[in-house]
Amino acid sequence: MDAVSSRHEIDVRGVVGPMDSATPVAVSLEIPADVAGSPAVQHTAWALLNMLVRLDRVVSAVSVACPSDVHLRVRLSPLAGDAGGLRDRLRHGAAALNVVPVDFGHHRGDVRLVVGSGGAVSDGVRVYGEGWCGGFARDRAVAAAPSSTLPFGPYIAAAMAVGEVFKLVHIDPAKYPPTAAAFYTLWSHQSDTTFIQGGHAAIPSIVLDETLAGVGAVGCICANLLWATDGVSGRVLLVDGDEEGVDITNLNRYMLFGRAHLGMPKASTARDLLNGAGSIAWDAHDGPIESTGRPHRRILCAVDTNPSRLAVQSLWPESLLMGSTKELRAEVVRCDPRMGGPCARCYNPPDTTTPDDELRRRFREATPDEQRHLAEEVGADLEDAVAWADTGECGTTGERVRGALLGPRGRTETFSAPFVSCAAGTMLAAEVVKEHLSAPVPLSPSVARALLQFWRPDLSSGAKPYLRDPRCPTCIPECEAGVIWRERTAARPLRSDAPREDAGQ
Ligand SMILES: [Zn+2]
Repeated sequence: MDAVSSRHEIDVRGVVGPMDSATPVAVSLEIPADVAGSPAVQHTAWALLNMLVRLDRVVSAVSVACPSDVHLRVRLSPLAGDAGGLRDRLRHGAAALNVVPVDFGHHRGDVRLVVGSGGAVSDGVRVYGEGWCGGFARDRAVAAAPSSTLPFGPYIAAAMAVGEVFKLVHIDPAKYPPTAAAFYTLWSHQSDTTFIQGGHAAIPSIVLDETLAGVGAVGCICANLLWATDGVSGRVLLVDGDEEGVDITNLNRYMLFGRAHLGMPKASTARDLLNGAGSIAWDAHDGPIESTGRPHRRILCAVDTNPSRLAVQSLWPESLLMGSTKELRAEVVRCDPRMGGPCARCYNPPDTTTPDDELRRRFREATPDEQRHLAEEVGADLEDAVAWADTGECGTTGERVRGALLGPRGRTETFSAPFVSCAAGTMLAAEVVKEHLSAPVPLSPSVARALLQFWRPDLSSGAKPYLRDPRCPTCIPECEAGVIWRERTAARPLRSDAPREDAGQ
């Protein structure tokens, strides 16, 4: 049976343990009175709560300690309503989900998250994001950075802290022990064990003209952050062709949507939510990106299937940024051919099929109840299905469960969790803002990719060189489309660190 928890219950590499044997934790979210008026603390508190309440079967309850008289200093989210102070908004937003129970008292949870800069927290985790950097620290103080209303650092801090909560419940601590402290900056794409300074604390004024392809997990979070960023105006076209709209399994990570949006189309629903406030004019197209009938100067690619990535690439926009997730890794890629960089199709072959061995393993590892449900769903005999999973025996009704294992859209459903999607959506939003700012250290034609992984967030995250997939048939440099794409991309003002002439050959 599909549920809010379906996608974060899926195993990853054999180390995300079975949900049935895990004990969910109660989390206390503390917003100290001396920092509750800080814009960054307000963003962080909302992002933490927004993810924690979606982690059904991981988090058993959330207790929020928030002063009652704190004025809101930022745009949090359309989900949080438009009335009252910080605590009212948090309460309103949590009620829109109605998944994990939330109280606004002072109950000490199994895990204690304290928001904002300050001294060491005993038996707890300090969660702090400001400007472009965010992260968490156990048992050590975190000094305040210059105050900023930007949501980027706060959302990264929240994602990393929620990732630690998930690891605590579901990942073997002998293999991936809790991390003492980790911070990530979206400004220069670096990770460290202490807060990393750098980047504008405020955005002067930028005017967007973007197409956001895919209003799923990564896309709706990207849109929510652009909406919440002071200094950003212009137009964004939201495009999503998913005919089924928002479904129950989406709610564990679609941070812009709540229960009221189940069954509704993603793009136009997001448009209607976001047009109520902020300075961006949002347009929507509920259909495939090929059918918008408009040119796309830059595409922010947040689609989650490889055929959709190929469809985006096939429009050959002059600028293309792509956010995505895989297992416990979030990443952003600048698709740019000028120095041999990748296209959106690179490493993402659209015809990938899941091998039968993998599907049979999944069936064998399902609980008896799940096996029975899968067999019933496709009219297979349960004994035949078990035999198919054990031996690969064909020619019986058993192999019909292959279809059920591939999910309702004919593809294999993979692990997805809110903190990973939140990080990828935040990375994508921050990167497009940096493009407009001509930031000195955005992703570049020579450093095309940045990733943040949650296994050990203090290690091996950051910006990386990333060349095109030599097996990719779409962006072969000599092909006509490849030549035209390079010319279009080069027509844009180049980064200071980019070559003046094509160096991709
Ligand atoms: Zn390619």
